[in-house]
Amino acid sequence: MHSQKKKITILGSTGSIGVNTLDVIEKNPTHFEVFALTAHKNVEVLQKQIAIHNPKIVVLTETSSFQKIKKEYGHKLSVLFGEEGLIQVAAHPEVDFVMAAIVGAAGLSPFIAALESNKQIGLANKEVMVMAGEFLHQTYSPEILKNILPVDSEHSAIFQCLQGGKQTQSRRRYEIESIILTASGGPFLWKENLENITPAEALKHPNWNMGAKISIDSSTLMNKGLEVIEARWLFPITLSQIQVLIHPQSIVHSMVSFVDGSILAHLGVSDMRIPIQYALSYPKRLSNSIPRLSFPKLKELTFSEPDWNKFPCLGLAFKVLEKGNVFPAVLNAANEVAVQHFLDGKIRYLDIAKCNQFVVDRHLPSPILDLKSIREADVIAREESHLWISQLTS
Ligand code: NAD
Ligand code: MG
Repeated sequence: MHSQKKKITILGSTGSIGVNTLDVIEKNPTHFEVFALTAHKNVEVLQKQIAIHNPKIVVLTETSSFQKIKKEYGHKLSVLFGEEGLIQVAAHPEVDFVMAAIVGAAGLSPFIAALESNKQIGLANKEVMVMAGEFLHQTYSPEILKNILPVDSEHSAIFQCLQGGKQTQSRRRYEIESIILTASGGPFLWKENLENITPAEALKHPNWNMGAKISIDSSTLMNKGLEVIEARWLFPITLSQIQVLIHPQSIVHSMVSFVDGSILAHLGVSDMRIPIQYALSYPKRLSNSIPRLSFPKLKELTFSEPDWNKFPCLGLAFKVLEKGNVFPAVLNAANEVAVQHFLDGKIRYLDIAKCNQFVVDRHLPSPILDLKSIREADVIAREESHLWISQLTS
């Protein structure tokens, strides 16, 4: 008999979202079961995860890590390599749910494979939606796209608020007036001069503990920009219906404003296991022991407009969304390259935004929007970023 447990593939199980997903699975053994885990090269964390969760398949995307795991576990479980392996575990007939928790464009192919195999997908890997959101809408039916369940805390919040607005399920746009994406503002909200920011400073997020790339993105507000694009394609809204508000306490995870002036907000502690669990259990809710929000202990909830001059990456996201076509993918690629160079100490903090702007300005649109043109734009934008960075350092 087919087991009642949801069988889960976690793409990027060794990352921050992956680890939190495994925690939710471990605490709900009657509901969920691991089928496959994937990692780039974090062999130690993967070994521990294999011991606890007993996956049928693991995938490694870095050669020496693959060889190591294959040698150690190859006799008792299936160890696959690379993008091909990721696609296999995302599309595997035994899998019910795919947690897309790889960081960056590397998650695109397995995401598409999961979508085409009609899996439920927990979407943390926002870069995929940024790159391909417009294409997905042109290519797949609304029924298929309903399988994508947001994991990003803001998008999970909006998703839940929309359920409180009657008729929104049937995509009647006019009932939603706007969505309000909240942003913590990152570690430099109050800092005047960002010129000499070091990677260590930028990695310290005030409210969330996350992977390196998203931590840097949060500090430049590129993360919020990527989330604006993600929201555009996840929900039945237009660009002009998206607002961003700075909310340093990260308690209101986002809001939906309806045409009658009602606003629904989603509140909670800053713990990614809440949106992760909701995506996994949707449409049900499961109880858990995550600490609750204590209203008497909250000193204040404040909101303000973002500083568009200090954080140009946010405005750039709106601009590429307006341009459409491959431009969101171009911005995403430029940003991935720039952030990596900043983390490696090769460019300065403010160069991230400059590189992104340069590459977006320089890029020529592609005549058609398909996966191939998106992938090509990604490659070209990476080359353009390297070019800009090399001119800077020569
Ligand atoms: P992370 O850096 O902690 O983990 C990334 C995972 O992806 C790891 O398992 C790593 O092995 C894998 N990976 C990295 N490069 C890869 C490659 N080239 N090919 C295959 N796998 C690769 O990142 P994270 O913080 O867990 O974030 C993952 C995604 O979720 C990102 O898109 C991020 O924006 C999004 N997200 C994260 C949080 C959070 O709280 N961490 C919140 C919202 C959204
Ligand atoms: Mg978020």
